[in-house]
Amino acid sequence: MINLILFGPPGSGKGTQAVKLAEEFNLYHISTGDLFRNEISNETPLGLEAKKYMSKGELVPDEVTIGMLSNKLDEQAGKVNGFIFDGFPRTEPQADALDKLLDLKDTSVSLVLALEVGEDEITERILDRAKKSENPRADDLDEAIIRNRFQVYLKQTSPVAEHYKKADKLVTIVGIGSINEIFEKLKDAVNEIK
Ligand code: AMP
Repeated sequence: MINLILFGPPGSGKGTQAVKLAEEFNLYHISTGDLFRNEISNETPLGLEAKKYMSKGELVPDEVTIGMLSNKLDEQAGKVNGFIFDGFPRTEPQADALDKLLDLKDTSVSLVLALEVGEDEITERILDRAKKSENPRADDLDEAIIRNRFQVYLKQTSPVAEHYKKADKLVTIVGIGSINEIFEKLKDAVNEIK
């Protein structure tokens, strides 16, 4: 099994690249942001809870997020070649939980691909994404919320990179350039461990 994590700030291109990598390496794509948005549109209790945090650009509490992720892993276990995690883990407890959940399935994180993009570029990209979308995400419409998401990333998520650096599983890639240029770099990094 290959299990990849796409790491990086909001708007760094994780979602776009995750879809391409999933297709290239035949992996199951799990985006916790998409799972939450799906729960919100179905107006489930989990969605209503998540919305309270997402609308402010804050993280959904770990127990809610880890529970949802664990259900998804159980649902797909044995059916797929591996996973690509997009937007998870975002905290140290989430990283520990992922290690344990994968260990229970006799597998582990193979590689963490970290995309590097700065705050101003991120803000511009997300505002542009909102403008071009017919159905923009609520948290993409307001610059203050976007900047808060970036700050949350710096404070709560970026330290998680250290967890994988220690395990020698972290590869950092500059996330500026065309989608295909960045995809080629990501693909090369994955092919090196195959
Ligand atoms: P994303 O689509 O990855 O940008 O996520 C959108 C929002 O969903 C985030 O700003 C958080 O509020 C929430 N979210 C997504 N993934 C996580 C996670 N792993 N932990 C906590 N909150 C998350």
